[in-house]
Amino acid sequence: MADAFTVRFWGVRGSIACSGPRTVRYGGNTSCVEMRCGGRLLVFDAGTGLRYLGNALAGDASLPLDADLFLTHTHFDHVCGLPFFKPFFLPQNRWRLWAGHLAEGMTLRRVLGEFMMSPLFPVPPEVFRSELEYRDFRAGEALSPAPGITLRTAPLNHPDGATGYRIEYEGRSVCYVTDTEHVPGSLDQSVLTLIAQADLVIYDCMYTDAEYPRYVGWGHSTWQEGVRLCKQARAKRLVVFHHDPDHDDDMLDGIGREVAKALPGSVVAYEGLTLEP
Ligand SMILES: [Zn+2]
Ligand SMILES: [Zn+2]
Repeated sequence: MADAFTVRFWGVRGSIACSGPRTVRYGGNTSCVEMRCGGRLLVFDAGTGLRYLGNALAGDASLPLDADLFLTHTHFDHVCGLPFFKPFFLPQNRWRLWAGHLAEGMTLRRVLGEFMMSPLFPVPPEVFRSELEYRDFRAGEALSPAPGITLRTAPLNHPDGATGYRIEYEGRSVCYVTDTEHVPGSLDQSVLTLIAQADLVIYDCMYTDAEYPRYVGWGHSTWQEGVRLCKQARAKRLVVFHHDPDHDDDMLDGIGREVAKALPGSVVAYEGLTLEP
């Protein structure tokens, strides 16, 4: 088990959480992905899915936790789970929070402090009891959160910026690339480099190519662009992620059939999906 590398999805939705019978199978929680590299826990994004991961961890006997949480960026759908993450309230835990998209002079600590501030939110980040360490970096830098785990990062094309991650462990690689917008007809070189020959690519597939022209400049991409990028970069499997809240289960079923045909082994992410790269 020391070399086990797993990916589990707790929130797969983009922009805003949604509930109801039309989204119940894929799930309505916003971005949160858990990765396990041997005994290490790495969390990517802190959308509403984070609360469910936290509930699972808080009941886990393997506490205390010494873990890392990486943010693609700090748009609301990617951070709104933070104040509801139970492991942050346990004093025995140590967390490092990472962000690579903030401009000079802005820090993750300050952003979180402004988001958890009255009258937007009743209590400040000081209510957390865990030891929290804020680590700002610049997208493009390589990170090594623990021995044997390498993270490569790249800036993404998104309003206010965002960071794409490539996690390498025991000779395998998973990429987490959301939120990002493509330029039709020209593959993003920085994304291609990040995902080159990766085993698994989790990609911003908010729209379809047919829908995209209505959303130019909104900062998101399409599942078809994900397929084109993976093929060009010779990445093995695409995971369709960051679903539009208006895409219901039936529509996502249809995308699942098409993406599996276009790039065999590819899947549409749903809450509870667990993959091994
Ligand atoms: Zn988003
Ligand atoms: Zn965003």
